[in-house]
Amino acid sequence: MSSRRQFIQQLGLASLGGMLSPSIGVAQSKTAKIYTVTGAINASELGVCLSHEHIMSNFGAERSYQPNYDATALKAQVLPYLKRIKSLGVDSILDCTTAYFGRDVKLLKELSEESEIYLITNTGYYGAANDRYVPEHAYQETTEQLAERWINEFERGIDQTDIRPGFIKIAADGGGVSDIDKKLMQAALKTSQATELTIACHTGDNPAVPKLALELMNEESIEPSVWIWTHAHQMETSEELIAMAKEGMWISLDGLRIKGYYGGADQLVLDKHLQHLLALKEQSLLPRVLVSHDGNSFPRGGAIRPYEAIFTRFIPMLKENGFTQQEIDQLLVVNPQQAFAIDK
Ligand SMILES: [Zn+2]
Repeated sequence: MSSRRQFIQQLGLASLGGMLSPSIGVAQSKTAKIYTVTGAINASELGVCLSHEHIMSNFGAERSYQPNYDATALKAQVLPYLKRIKSLGVDSILDCTTAYFGRDVKLLKELSEESEIYLITNTGYYGAANDRYVPEHAYQETTEQLAERWINEFERGIDQTDIRPGFIKIAADGGGVSDIDKKLMQAALKTSQATELTIACHTGDNPAVPKLALELMNEESIEPSVWIWTHAHQMETSEELIAMAKEGMWISLDGLRIKGYYGGADQLVLDKHLQHLLALKEQSLLPRVLVSHDGNSFPRGGAIRPYEAIFTRFIPMLKENGFTQQEIDQLLVVNPQQAFAIDK
C-alpha cells in the first residue's frame, strides 16, 4: 500500500476552518499536498473545491497544442466570473482541459493569482470525441513512452515552466473500450504509480471503462481510489456506481451545468444528480463521491457555461432532502482533499 493510502486510512476529523462549516475538515499528514498552478499547497488548504470544471477550452476546434487564446478577451470574461465564484465560497477548482484542446498553464497561473482561487491543471490526453484530440504520437509510442511524457510534466514542469499537474485527465469514447482508449488508461495508471496523481477519466454511461480500469488496477495491485469515474451521473441507474464505489473508486457526479435558473430541463439535471446521491448515501458511500458542474468560463470565446448551480440551486435542494451540513462539507471539502492529496 502506498504511503498516500496509509495516510488516508489515518485520517480523522479536525478543525480546518473551511468556508462551509468551520468544524469540518480533514487532518492531513504534514506531507500531504496538492500541486496548484501557483505551487504546492497543504491539502487542507484546498477548501471548498470544484473538482471538474473548465476555466477555458478550445473544444470544437481542430486539435492544436498551442491554444492561441485572445488573452485580453479571455481575462475580461473569465476573471469577473472567477471572482463571482469566489464570492459563493469556492476556494479551488480543478481545470479539466487537457493538452491539445486548450490547456494553457501560464494563463491559468495569471488567472489564479488575480482571482485568488487555487487552480489545478492536469497531464494526460483526451480520448473521447472520437479521438479528435489525441495527438499522433500517442498511436505510435508505447504505453511506457506516453507515460514518460506525462511523468516528465510532473517532475520537470509543463511547457518550460515550474507548473506541475495536480492530477491526470484522460477520456474514453462510449461503446466498449477502443485500443487507444485502453492505451491512455494504461499510461495514466503508469503515471499515477510514478507520481501518486489521481486519474479523472471522462467516461459517462460506459461501464466497460471502469470495469476494465478495475481489472488493470487489480492486476497491478493498485488501489482503486486512484481512479475517478468522471461524468458518472450519465448512468440511468445507480447500481454500477454503487458497485464501483464499493470497490473504492471515486464517483464524480459532475453535470450540474444548468443553463438558466428555471425550467423543466434544469430540474431534470438536478433531480438526476440527487437520485444518484441518495442511492449512494443509502449505502453509506458519500465518502466516495465528488460533485461538480463541468462548466466552462471561456468555451472557445463563447458565452460562459456557469459553474455555480451547486451553490445557488443544489445545496438548498440537498438540505430539503435531508442532507446535513456535514454531508455537504464531505462532498465539497473533505472528499476532494482525499481524492487529490499526494505525498510526493
Ligand atoms: Zn469536462
